[in-house]
Amino acid sequence: MLPKFAYVRASTVEEAAQNLAADGAKALAGGSDLLGCLRDGVFETPLVVSLSGLTSLRGISRTRNGGLRIGAMTSVADVAADPTINELLPGLAQAASVVASPQLRNQGTIGGNLCQKPRCWYYRGEFNCRRKGGGTCYAMVGENEYHCLFGGALCYIVHPSDTAPILTALDATLNITGPRGTRSVPLSDFYVLPADDATRETVLEQGEFVTEVILPEPASGLRTSYRKERDRGAWDFALAGVALAMRLDGGRVSDARVVLSGASPVPWRSREAEQVIEGQRIDTAVAAAAAEAAMADARPLGKTGYKVPMFKGIIEEELLAIAAS
Ligand SMILES: Cc1cc2nc3c(=O)[nH]c(=O)nc-3n(C[C@H](O)[C@H](O)[C@H](O)COP(=O)(O)OP(=O)(O)OC[C@H]3O[C@@H](n4cnc5c(N)ncnc54)[C@H](O)[C@@H]3O)c2cc1C
Ligand code: SF4
Repeated sequence: MLPKFAYVRASTVEEAAQNLAADGAKALAGGSDLLGCLRDGVFETPLVVSLSGLTSLRGISRTRNGGLRIGAMTSVADVAADPTINELLPGLAQAASVVASPQLRNQGTIGGNLCQKPRCWYYRGEFNCRRKGGGTCYAMVGENEYHCLFGGALCYIVHPSDTAPILTALDATLNITGPRGTRSVPLSDFYVLPADDATRETVLEQGEFVTEVILPEPASGLRTSYRKERDRGAWDFALAGVALAMRLDGGRVSDARVVLSGASPVPWRSREAEQVIEGQRIDTAVAAAAAEAAMADARPLGKTGYKVPMFKGIIEEELLAIAAS
């Protein structure tokens, strides 16, 4: 059962920011994650501020400089189906199309997808773990098969979003509004590693919320892709995933981005893999070397060792596929 909380449906961005400034207030977009957290007692809130009346935050359009603007309240399904995204940035459409299930993609928004809470079962259960402000990480020596290989310290979650890795690879920037005005944050600086603060996932301050995702103009020859492996064929988070964005000039890679999902508490950019492929023609040897490099510094927990060969396999396959596309 949902606990009691006050509810406001904001009709302007400013009204939403003012209400969200109240201590502990939470933004409600599609509710596919927030309502579950409240129902299960993961956290409490005195006030839920619905963004559903902010029609200006829905929709996808071109920016004046040839990029793309995706309103934070745009549904994940609309991102997956958008013709411009499918034509210019198919990797983003692929990522959106494998989020959860059709119902959740219709209900869930891109802003909510980027700001969703972790899926660690201790966090979602009745454990006062470090992420909730307690003193222990129960996953470190417990049931940790869905946890991280990189960037873990104090807390070992993986970031659950499928769209965050490809948007990171595409150099997306988030526009953020709060009680003190607006600011822009590159998505690569938006997420917080547990070593910096194990109790927060993003740099958002109380009262701030994401209004827009801004993408730069796609470079000529840009190729993009996203793939994830999961336990079930649908309605499931990534065990291992890889987002790719790169240009091929005369068959050689330039400006490569390799970003992993299911790997770290944040979308994990593998500069090691990027360095291997940069300037190269991707063949089986280069793809295998990049996959090895991506996993060289992996630090599996007791039950996450299976992810290492899984990542190597999908990185290798996806590099070969994007080179042949
Ligand atoms: C069964 C199930 C399976 C799922 N599978 C996947 C999956 O495979 N891949 C995946 O990526 N996700 C998955 N999800 C997670 C999630 O529900 C969706 O990603 C969805 O897009 C979240 O969007 P929402 O609008 O419903 O968010 P909400 O539930 O409304 O919000 C989620 C969180 O983000 C905050 N928030 C929402 N909008 C904003 C904003 N604009 N600015 C700042 N904070 C904001 C809320 O306060 C809340 O904490 C799954 C969820 C469920 C229940
Ligand atoms: S991994 Fe993080 S969220 Fe999970 S139990 Fe440990 S501290 Fe809590």
